[in-house]
Amino acid sequence: NKTVSSNFIRNIVVEDLSKGAVSEIVTRFPPEPNGYLHIGHAKSICLNFELADEFKGRTNLRFDDTNPLKEDTEYVESIKQDVQWLGFEWDDLRFASDYFEELYNRAVLLIKKGKAYVCDLTAEQMRETRGSLTEPGQDSPYRSRSVEESLDLFARMRAGEFKDGERVLRAKIDMASPNISLRDPVLYRISHTHHHRTGDAWCIYPMYDYAHPLSDAIEGVTHSICTLEFEDHRPLYDWVVAECEMEATPHQYEFARLNITNTIMSKRYLKSLVDNGVVDGWDDPRMPTISGLRRRGFTPESLRAFCREIGVARANSLVDERMLEHFIREDLKLKALRSMAVVRPLKVVITNYPEGQVEQLEAENNSENEEMGSRMIPFSREIYIEQDDFMEVPPPKYHRLYPGNEVRLKHAYFIKCEEVIKNEAGEVIELRCTYDQETKSGSGFTGRKVKGTIHWVEASQAKAAEFRHFEPLLIDDEANADKPFLERINPESLEVLQGYVEQGMAESQGGDKFQFFRHGYYNVDSKLSGEDKLVFNRIVSLKSSFDP
Ligand code: ATP
Ligand code: MG
Ligand code: MG
Repeated sequence: NKTVSSNFIRNIVVEDLSKGAVSEIVTRFPPEPNGYLHIGHAKSICLNFELADEFKGRTNLRFDDTNPLKEDTEYVESIKQDVQWLGFEWDDLRFASDYFEELYNRAVLLIKKGKAYVCDLTAEQMRETRGSLTEPGQDSPYRSRSVEESLDLFARMRAGEFKDGERVLRAKIDMASPNISLRDPVLYRISHTHHHRTGDAWCIYPMYDYAHPLSDAIEGVTHSICTLEFEDHRPLYDWVVAECEMEATPHQYEFARLNITNTIMSKRYLKSLVDNGVVDGWDDPRMPTISGLRRRGFTPESLRAFCREIGVARANSLVDERMLEHFIREDLKLKALRSMAVVRPLKVVITNYPEGQVEQLEAENNSENEEMGSRMIPFSREIYIEQDDFMEVPPPKYHRLYPGNEVRLKHAYFIKCEEVIKNEAGEVIELRCTYDQETKSGSGFTGRKVKGTIHWVEASQAKAAEFRHFEPLLIDDEANADKPFLERINPESLEVLQGYVEQGMAESQGGDKFQFFRHGYYNVDSKLSGEDKLVFNRIVSLKSSFDP
């Protein structure tokens, strides 16, 4: 089932192996533990792990924990769980913070070689002297500082003698480079911040552009895959590896990040939804986080198939959200038990059915997969049907229930609507119907035909259940485009309905998945369901409007 599709990074790997440039493929997935992973990260995870797997290489999970202000062990744990849930096993679990001492020593080496200096400019002054795409930058007055003085100041930075922002260590490259990332980039900054792993041992922290290539080299990573926005940083990546005299020479390759229509794909924005209470945590089923998709009911198989289908390219593109839905339908089609649920119940009394009698009817478990067998479901004088399946005054071509009309109850009998009961407000609260014993499902009855088939649940044994239907969190239309993020939130992204499922589902556990006839695929919510309460998240409706 695992078809490897070719892509430009895979082609590079094949070539590197065949010409002997590398003897083994080593990749890494390098999340910063400052939030939960989203579906975009899944693309990177699949790419890194599947590439190494295919060529019997190795993949590390490495936390890029160089920015202690925003990082937390809660995120570390969630990321580990998500990678494993997707079905991947890392070779080594690493943290950039494991390398802080070595990174520091390499920085000292750079200073000694005259390739780095301590700079006293403020962040603001550095910005002002960096130049622009059309103008070269200006040398810092501290660029000519002696090696001895920089060594001394760098040691004192580490020792905690200076306040945040007072000094930085900068690479000495070229303030006139057409590539702005080479204009004496900052390598270390002062930040008196407690780190979730190293505690208060450090008050200087390496920058991403310095820590990342060195971490790759230390781990023997051969192909360091990142997203397109780092393309300009590649010369700096190579400079750091070379000037720090690393033994290994990893190479960076860039691919286009995943974007999906109507989907927020940035940890920063996702965090603000959590912090502002717009959603019920990072794993809210509306969130495009891996934990949210899991709670919604997506399977690892469906996410991996999706990532494989979208492929790896160097051009940015926008993937249709319906494609993700397509893959979960495909995955569950033959696996999920098909049963009946009524999400907006309307009671039906079958007046000619004997009072007190309950019979058992056979219902197939999956009409497209005979191997799943069948189950028995109860039928009696009182059932629930869907409010939408009755109309007092039907429009043309309405084939469901209306006064005088006959429909088929799935797996059961034909019923005919004889009487409509209303409350004082004039709302329909109950229907009185009759059934025809001869029309029993499976009996071979051909006497007459009906145009509509509706689903139902037997009332006395039905299990009360809550159903949660979702719409996109963000309203992503033209009219809204210029509004601030939090004003583009869709106020109707969650609909909560109270209804019934078949009694046989009473024992369902969190994570169990079903197809409810005519409604879609559902997942038992593991957080909200309990002993006396079943909560189903709708994963997707049944309609498939997209075929890749
Ligand atoms: P965000 O922009 O959402 O905060 P990030 O890139 O800062 O994400 P990291 O934890 O730094 O998050 O990312 C870990 C890895 O995942 C990186 O290699 C990054 O390139 C990759 N990645 C992040 N977002 C996407 C995406 N939308 N598509 C593909 N890969 C992604
Ligand atoms: Mg990041
Ligand atoms: Mg980012």
